[in-house]
Parts: sequence; structure tokens; C-alpha cells
Amino acid sequence: MKKCKSCLLPETYETIEFNKNGCNICEGASFKNKSIDWEKRKKELDKLIDKYRGKYSYDCIVPFSGGKDSTFTLYYLIKNYGIKPLVVRFNHGFMRKIVRENNENTFKKLGVDVIDFTPNWNVVKLLMKESFDRKTDFCWHCHTGIFSYPIRTALIHKVPLILWGETQSEITAYYQYEDEEIEFEDEKKFNMMRTLGITADDMYEMIKNKDKIDKRDLIPYTFPNVQELKGINYHSAALGNYIPWDYKKNTQLIVKELGWKVGETEGVPKDINIYGEKTECFMQGTRDYIKYLKRGYGRTAQINAFSLRKGEKSFDKSNEENNIYDGKKPHSLELFLEYMGMSEDEFNKTVLGMVIPPNDPSFNKNEFSKKLNDFEEWYREDNRKK
Ligand SMILES: [Zn+2]
Repeated sequence: MKKCKSCLLPETYETIEFNKNGCNICEGASFKNKSIDWEKRKKELDKLIDKYRGKYSYDCIVPFSGGKDSTFTLYYLIKNYGIKPLVVRFNHGFMRKIVRENNENTFKKLGVDVIDFTPNWNVVKLLMKESFDRKTDFCWHCHTGIFSYPIRTALIHKVPLILWGETQSEITAYYQYEDEEIEFEDEKKFNMMRTLGITADDMYEMIKNKDKIDKRDLIPYTFPNVQELKGINYHSAALGNYIPWDYKKNTQLIVKELGWKVGETEGVPKDINIYGEKTECFMQGTRDYIKYLKRGYGRTAQINAFSLRKGEKSFDKSNEENNIYDGKKPHSLELFLEYMGMSEDEFNKTVLGMVIPPNDPSFNKNEFSKKLNDFEEWYREDNRKK
């Protein structure tokens, strides 16, 4: 496969386009470093926060996934603006112990009100199965819920300002830093970025005959009515559009100031993932494994792409690590198959049907990645397997 000569991401990476210096994602990162007037952007943030401060039951909503980026966002807004936020955490069902502990610690230390929402697990499993079968992406429930639920909460509590953390332009070319439009989520972008083109209404039609399901079960995943949002003066923005986003510095700061503990991600050695990328979900290893089978790169390559762009790691070292660690079978796959009531052959068959050429995966390697030390704590459908 053809790969970017500066970050090593392959031609199968979503939205990638190669150019003479590397790729469009590398270009976006260097544009951000050089061309953005961050002082001006910061003043825009000051204005935005002033506009909403003190007028509603909360100054803003901070959607909270539990990872380093949302933790940093909350910390930054409270320390720098003394803001009174309502924190909304959508529980995707796979929160690891270290994340729950980090979150409790953060909420207590910062002193914030928190709404924690956990959707019906039986519905979640149906949604995972349907989106896996159709798109090999079982995270539909999380990627839609984590966005639509906080926006729904904004409506319920009449808190118009939502402040997200990192922008998407860090990782894809759907968004560009030079875009004048810095509003983060509207329905169109929501559908493009989050739902795999499957709206909650579509999803209901797909699963309604498969199990006992009520149309209301899909409400947490539904983008709210745009007129109602306009009615409360809804405004959604990402902190990463106003301040330079240095995920390493951000992580170091929350480690120091909040005692945030850096966890491990399945399939990536700790000395590569030193800043705790994607540690919040114990299904991450399976998600990354599917990506490897489909597109030929895994989490190690994604983390190393960041390090390469920042000049923190050599090309050869990254290449070597990507080849060694990516593509190993994760132990979380066993749980995924258990939840889905699926055999590994069925799993492989579905993934094979959606491989992105020219990637040509081998399904018979049977080399496992390291079992993480909290594996035994992960939820099992069959208690005897604990
Ligand atoms: Zn690149």
C-alpha cells in the first residue's frame, strides 16, 4: 500500500489525499501550527463565554467522554474562566475502572454537577450488531449518543452553550482549521461525522423486527429538533478551535493538577501510548483490530503518525513499531463475540466483505496482543467465564 512519506498513514485512511510533501492531514496539522492567529481565536472564546455567562442555570454544557481531552477541557474552562458547567457523561457501556476512578476524582476536585446517562444494554447490543453487520463499525450507539445526548440535555435544561474539546480536524480532513465556520455540530455535520449515514430513524426501521424494541429506545441517539435548538439560542463550539491543542501538554497538565492516571490501550505498548490515547473504552482493541483488517493500519500507526508530525520519533522506528504491534488479535474480541452471539468465522466473513482495497488482510495470523491487567473485570454475559 502507498503510505504518506511523512506520517506513514496509508492510502486506505479515511479522507487522506497525498501531495508532494506528505498528505492533507499532515498539511492540516502544520497549517494549525503556523497560520492560525491563536490570540485572536482566544479573544473570540472570551467573547463567547461572556455572552452566555450567568444567564442560564449553567454557563455551558461540557460533554464528557472520560478521556484525556474532555478532562482537559473541563479543567481548562474552570481554571481559566471560573465557569459553571453542567457535565454530561454518556456511558457507552465499556468504561474501564481507571476511567471511572479518574472521572470521579476529576469531578470532585473541580466541583461540578454531573449527569451520567447509561442507555439500555439490550438496545445497545442490537445497535452494535446492526451497525457491525452493515458497516463493520459497532460503535454507532456511542458515536451518536455521545453527541446527541448532551445536545438533548441542553434542550431539557435550557443551557444553550455546549463546549466540546478537541476538534475533528486533528484526525480527519472533513474539517479544516482554516474554515471560517467554527460551529462544531449541526445536523448535517452530525450525520456526516457521527452516524455512518444511519440516522436514529433509519436504525429503528432496521432493528424494529429483530427484537422487542420501542421507538422511544432510540431517543437518546436522535439529533434534536433544529427549531427547538434555535429557540434556546443553541451554540456549539470546540475548545480546540480557540486554543492550540497539544494533547501531550494537556495530558501532562491533568496528570499534575488532577492526579489523572494514564491507562493502557489494548494492542499498543505503554511506552508508545505514553499519553493515554483511547484508554476509556475496553472495546477499543477490537475496534482497532477491525480497522487493521479493513484498512491495514492500527492504533500504533495512528499514535505514531502524531509523533512523526511533531518530529518526536524517527520514520524508521515508527515503521518498525507499526509492523510489530498493529494487527494482533485483541482479547476484547472474545467479549465482543459473546455480546453479539457471533462466531469468529462470522465476524471475519463480515469484515472481509468490507475490506478497503488495496489492503489484503490475513485472517489466520492468530497472534494475540497483550492481555490488559483489568481484562478480568470487563463485563461478561456469561458469568462463568469470569
Ligand atoms: Zn501524512
